[in-house]
Amino acid sequence: MTTESHEFKAEIQQLLNILVHSLYTDRDIFLRELISNASDALSRVQFELLTNRDVVDPDAELKITIECDKDARTLTIRDTGIGMTRDEIVENLGTIAHSGAAEFLKKLQAEKKPADVIGQFGVGFYSVYMVAEEVAVTSRSYQPEAAAVRWTSKGDNTYTLEDAETLRADRGTEILVRLKEDAAEYAEEWKIEQIIKKHSDFVSFPITVKDHTANQQTALWRQSPREVTAEQYDNFYKQLTLDFEAPLLHVHFVADVPVDVHAVLYIPAKRERNMFSLRKDDGLKLYGRKVLIQEYFKELLPPYFRFVQGVVDSEDLPLNVSRESIQNNRAMAKLKSTLTHKLIGELEDLGQQDAAKYATFWKEFGPFIKEGVATEPASQADLAKLLRFKSNRGGDDWVSLAAYVERMKPEQDAIYYILGDDVHSIASSPHLDYFRKHELEVLYLTEPLDSFMVVTLKDFNDKKLQNVDDAKLDLPASGDQPIESKVADEDYAQLIARIKTVLGEKLTDVRESKVLTDSPCRLVSPEEAAERDMQRVKRLLGQDYEIPKKIMEINRGHQLIADMAALAQSKQNDALLDASIQQLYESALLLEGLLPNPAEMVPRIQQLMEAALRH
Ligand code: ADP
Repeated sequence: MTTESHEFKAEIQQLLNILVHSLYTDRDIFLRELISNASDALSRVQFELLTNRDVVDPDAELKITIECDKDARTLTIRDTGIGMTRDEIVENLGTIAHSGAAEFLKKLQAEKKPADVIGQFGVGFYSVYMVAEEVAVTSRSYQPEAAAVRWTSKGDNTYTLEDAETLRADRGTEILVRLKEDAAEYAEEWKIEQIIKKHSDFVSFPITVKDHTANQQTALWRQSPREVTAEQYDNFYKQLTLDFEAPLLHVHFVADVPVDVHAVLYIPAKRERNMFSLRKDDGLKLYGRKVLIQEYFKELLPPYFRFVQGVVDSEDLPLNVSRESIQNNRAMAKLKSTLTHKLIGELEDLGQQDAAKYATFWKEFGPFIKEGVATEPASQADLAKLLRFKSNRGGDDWVSLAAYVERMKPEQDAIYYILGDDVHSIASSPHLDYFRKHELEVLYLTEPLDSFMVVTLKDFNDKKLQNVDDAKLDLPASGDQPIESKVADEDYAQLIARIKTVLGEKLTDVRESKVLTDSPCRLVSPEEAAERDMQRVKRLLGQDYEIPKKIMEINRGHQLIADMAALAQSKQNDALLDASIQQLYESALLLEGLLPNPAEMVPRIQQLMEAALRH
């Protein structure tokens, strides 16, 4: 093969153009990218070697070597990793397959300020063009029949490919960087070592600069938790994820029964995976005896813990484990349940010991825990301890179910909750009249997932969870004064009859309320809680839903009801009365968070206003 010239794909030309002319100050990151690529290549060949000895240089030491040449102004990064064939080099370095660079371009078009985004991105290999005049990549694949190949480019629109059989005999990849004049510092060993300390200290293969190892390469998770400082945990997290923010919580877990495990798990500060993150998928990094088996292993934790980041290593995984068989491995099942328990336990402790920090966790990740409660019956009881709610006690406090139960009234035997769209509309719900008056606590369930959750979560510590809109609700504290009626029996009967005529099919019944004090009416649910809550779920999902048929409870002590009853008595079929009845119903639905089209009330409200003003 002679030297061939190729053109880069258009996106790469665009990317290179930006990088070559970049004035970005933190150019150091190019080295992190190259080392990270080398480390990936080493992990991949290490994994291959577990089952396949028919590779080039099966016994070569797995390492990264960096050479600086001040006089020639070059930097060389060499690895004994998996290498690339000719086709792979064209595919990997000639097209824009990887997500980082594609995202980068998208972001760039939006922001138009390259310097701001470069540093946050893994723009990968191409970032070398911030410092390079020319780069030559020479590689020999681990596959015995593949020939060595050299790829060269100045970062303009073209690259060349040539045969490198005589140039590179060993397996792996060498990246020779001819540095720009203003990047001469990267030909200095001290500078390189400094960058490695900062960005690549935990890379698990030795990085040799001159003749000594520049990185710690400690498998942090294999150390005793007592020996690791908080700062080291944070650094490890940042190197693992490229997140700029320190994690909210780390859990370092070392055990040998029931299964050997060395794990460092992190709860990030934010739910959204930073779009620049090195981690491109959910899942944990799984090692078996320090060998990286899989980069994104999703089976180690239940799906609701998918936001957790970290590394898990175990001696109990068979060394010849293949990617497929992991799922059926018994040690794996034990690992999963052990890790899940440990995480739940740590979160529970955090909730008890540091309410403020827990609240931060809860605001970001609460929906995941609720999802767990709704979807994992086996863990429901444990996860329920992690739940937090707002309540009618007000304030910013988050209430746990345990705290709720603790301060229940002696005569109270259920945990009351109310479902709605948001705290404000719930706070004025007529259902709360009674609870307010009797100082009974009611939990506010305002998140979409809450209705899912209460469909399956029936009780907590033997206390039933009870929706306050339940028609059969048996409320304590019955020593109440009966509500003084403002409506004569006869007028009342007329009004009930009129409501039934006007609202007809929309209600299952109209009856007198025993609990309302401040509100004229409320809607209670006669049917099974699960069915009613499902309608709410459907509405939240934007699906067609039926307005559940409810019982309307009327407050005979309320002036509005008294006035309506008087009108019902004196005038049959009064248009104003009928409009008032419709409005009463829809207002109640609105407070329930169940009114489909609030705007449709406007003409009626206008009609009522006109009538009121004419008076
Ligand atoms: P990313 O690492 O995000 O995939 P890069 O642009 O850094 O993107 O690299 C593109 C691809 O080139 C890598 O995914 C990998 O397949 C290949 N590659 C880069 N460096 C090496 C290397 N040192 N050894 C083997 N393959 C490599």
